[in-house]
Amino acid sequence: MALLDASNAGKIPRTPQGVTPFQKLFGERYPDGAKWWSYMKREVIDPQRHLEPNPKKTEIEDFAALTEEVKQMTLDLGAAQVGIADFNEAITFTDAEDLGHKSVIVFLMPMDFDVMIDIGPKSQEDVHKTYFLLDELATRLATRISAYGYSASVQANRGEIPLPAYGQLAGLGELGKHGSLISPELGSAFRISAVSTDMPLVADGPADFGIDEICTKCHICSRFCPGEAIPAQKVDVNGMLRWQIDTPACHPHFLRLYGCKICLSVCPMNARGDKKAEYKDVAKDIREAKDAPGMLELINSRGDLKMEDFNEKAAKLTPEERELVWWEEPYPLRTANYDGLKD
Ligand code: SF4
Ligand code: SF4
Repeated sequence: MALLDASNAGKIPRTPQGVTPFQKLFGERYPDGAKWWSYMKREVIDPQRHLEPNPKKTEIEDFAALTEEVKQMTLDLGAAQVGIADFNEAITFTDAEDLGHKSVIVFLMPMDFDVMIDIGPKSQEDVHKTYFLLDELATRLATRISAYGYSASVQANRGEIPLPAYGQLAGLGELGKHGSLISPELGSAFRISAVSTDMPLVADGPADFGIDEICTKCHICSRFCPGEAIPAQKVDVNGMLRWQIDTPACHPHFLRLYGCKICLSVCPMNARGDKKAEYKDVAKDIREAKDAPGMLELINSRGDLKMEDFNEKAAKLTPEERELVWWEEPYPLRTANYDGLKD
């Protein structure tokens, strides 16, 4: 059993996010639908993320019963899986606002498997739609919690907490070698969000599903990652020994491959749930492609990736225009890797 040990965790530096000219190339290639969902999330939903508590607080006698009620509410609102974690001040981002929260309701929404394994513009629309639906769900849930007289905040991407770690702490799965949470029910084919609150809910806590052990022996995601961004071993990240992808090495490939997701697609944990039949096609691709360049060739032969177009534009950028300023603090892995961009 090797669950994430957070007892020595320190605050986590946030992955930098700016819009460099290199990232703009990625945004420009979004289909219109993806731009629309992205606008709805950013401009309509995100500004509502902190909910003020109802000044007339409901007297709660049984928090265990309320916890079950809140979980059912989350499922009724459209989540596929839900779990509760204790809010841990140490497992927050360095620039996180101090919310004084006690509990985190974490939930998962499945991605259509066919869309998830599609590397190209079509899947971008569905990814952005799922992010919107997740945040909309979270906002509705936070609104209902605030009506009990407790403060609640939507913890979507760019919130106060790292979502995969809280997914594990809520007993929804384990962190995989590809750096994302793996659910025993949904494999890697889902997106995650959360609501934090000062409501003292009863935590589920982490559970051992045997996934970490499988990841120590399996190397499929590392083998097919075009950026060689998935190390074979765990690394110490802010006091936690964990799987950690080399984000700067992933970054250029993530941008040119429409959000990439190859590591999520090839993960055999997808075949554990009800996607066994669909995963057979991915398994066939794995056998045919053999390695990362082979997989890229296969994907490119099927889709409309317009990689040459991206590479041509990327080649005109200066090294400074491509780079984000990566974490200011020393970080175990950071090797921005532009190999394969043919420039
Ligand atoms: S998203 Fe792509 S480049 Fe990034 S780690 Fe996964 S497979 Fe590698
Ligand atoms: S592909 Fe294998 S090593 Fe990678 S996350 Fe999935 S199970 Fe773990």
